[in-house]
Amino acid sequence: MRTVVAAIDQGTTSTRCMLFNAAAEVVARAQREHRQHLPRQGWVEHDAREIWANTEAVCGEALEQAGLRAGDVAAIGITNQRETTVVWDRATGEPVAPAIVWQDTRTQAICDELARGDNDRYRDRTGLPLATYFAGPKIRWILDNVQPSGDLAFGTVDSWLLWKLTGRHATDATNASRTMLMDLDTLQWAPEIADEMGVPMSMLPEIRSSSEVYGDVRDGPLAGVAVAGILGDQQAATFGQACLSPGEAKNTYGTGNFLLLNTGATKVLSENGLLTTVCYALPDQDPVYALEGSIAVTGSLVQWLRDNLGLIRDASEVEALARTVDDNGGAYFVPAFSGLFAPYWRPDARGAIVGLTRFVNRGHLARAALEATAFQTREVVDAMNADSGVALTELKVDGGMVGNELLMQFQADVLGVPVIRPVIAETTALGAAYAAGLAVAFWSSTDQISTNWAAERTWQPAMDATDRDARYSTWKKAVTKTFDWVE
Ligand code: ADP
Repeated sequence: MRTVVAAIDQGTTSTRCMLFNAAAEVVARAQREHRQHLPRQGWVEHDAREIWANTEAVCGEALEQAGLRAGDVAAIGITNQRETTVVWDRATGEPVAPAIVWQDTRTQAICDELARGDNDRYRDRTGLPLATYFAGPKIRWILDNVQPSGDLAFGTVDSWLLWKLTGRHATDATNASRTMLMDLDTLQWAPEIADEMGVPMSMLPEIRSSSEVYGDVRDGPLAGVAVAGILGDQQAATFGQACLSPGEAKNTYGTGNFLLLNTGATKVLSENGLLTTVCYALPDQDPVYALEGSIAVTGSLVQWLRDNLGLIRDASEVEALARTVDDNGGAYFVPAFSGLFAPYWRPDARGAIVGLTRFVNRGHLARAALEATAFQTREVVDAMNADSGVALTELKVDGGMVGNELLMQFQADVLGVPVIRPVIAETTALGAAYAAGLAVAFWSSTDQISTNWAAERTWQPAMDATDRDARYSTWKKAVTKTFDWVE
C-alpha cells in the first residue's frame, strides 16, 4: 500500500522533504539549509551540487523519520525557487558554473541591451518585463562569461533535480513561464526570443504539464518512485491554498513576498507592474493563468536586521522588539536592496530608511521593517485591483512570516480586508504533493484540495481609514526617495 506522497520543496535558503498522507496531513519533514554565496555586490549564487546532495539527504531523512520505505511512496512532487538558473554538462552531470539565483542583478546590462529602450518588448508573448529576475538573461551571462563547452543543458532548479532523479530533461509550464523564453499562449519555447537572447534551443528542457509522470527515480532513497508533479514555489502555494477559481488570491511571506491571483483561462496582461504567469497546467485542460506581484525583499529584511545589524538573534524575536514601541516613530524602511520589483520595476533604486529623528530607536526600526512588508503588499494589491477591475475582498496568507501576529494585524489594517491563515501552513510543499498525487490517482480530483483547506485564524482590519491613508501615503513618499540612486 502506497500511503504517502513526497514533496521536495527546494527553496532559496533550504531544501525540505515532506511526506503527506491522504488527508493532506504532514507525516514527516526533513530540512537542510544550503550556503548563500555573495561573491560581489549584487551577485547571489548557489552550488547546484550542494542542492542535489541536500535533496537526496532530506528525502532519506524524511522516510526514516516516518519509518517508511520508497515502496510506501505513491509519487514525488517537486516545487522550487523559481528563475534560479543551472547550466550543466549532460556528459559529466556536473554544473558548469555556480547557479545564478533569482535575486542576482548581474544581468542588468544584458537586459538593457535586449530592451532597446523598451523594457516591455517581450511582455505580450511572455507576460514579463525585461528584468534581472528572470532566467533567460542568466543563461546568456553564463554562456558569455564562463564560455563552457560540452553538451550543455539548462534548467531551473526543478529541471536540474528531475534530471538528477530520473535522467529526463524536462520542466513544467509554471517554471518555464519564468524564463522569458516561453510563449504564454502556446506553452512552448519562443525560438525568436531564444535567438535574440543568444540561448541555443538545444539547451532547453521539454515543457510539460504540472501534473503527470515524468519518470521514475533511478537510485537513492526514493528509487523506483514516480516523479509526477512540478510547480514553481509560488504556483505550488497557490494550488495548495486551493485558489482554484478565478478571483482567488494568496500571498506568501518568505524571503520575498509573492501575491498570485488566479485569472482562470484568461491571460491578463498587466498595465500596473504585475507579471502574467502560468498558475498551473493540468493535462488535457486549458492552462490556468495568474497575475503575480513579486516583492524581492520582505522576510530577508528581517534576516538582515539579524545578520547585518545584530538587532535580533532569531527572526522570531523581531515581533517582541517591534512591540516595545507603539508605532514606527516616523521611520519608514524601504528595502530596495536589489532595486524594486512589483509594481515599480526600478533597478536603479536602493534601500533607504527615511524619517529618522533622534527619537527613533531599535524598536521603531523593527516595526518599520515589518511595516515595509505590509505596505509593499498593499501596493501590489492596489495594482491587482486596478488590473483585474475587481477589488480583493480577503487575502489568504502563508510562509515563514505569517507566524508574526503584529505583522498580520498590521497587514489587515493597511489593506482594509481580512487576512486569513490556513490550518496547513506548508502550502508550497502541499501544492507540489497535490500535483503529484493527482497524476497517480492518490487523490481523485482537485475538489479534494478545496475540501481539505480550512482557515485557522482570521485578522480583521481595525485601523480607521484616515490613519491608514496617511501612513500609506507617507510610505509612498518614502519609496520615491529610493529612486535614481544607481546611475
Ligand atoms: P523561503 O521559503 O523563502 O526560504 P520561509 O517561508 O521559510 O522562506 O520564511 C522564512 C523567512 O521568514 C525568513 O526570511 C525569516 O526572516 C522570516 N521570518 C521567520 N519567522 C519570522 C517572524 N516571526 N517574524 C518575521 N519574519 C519571520
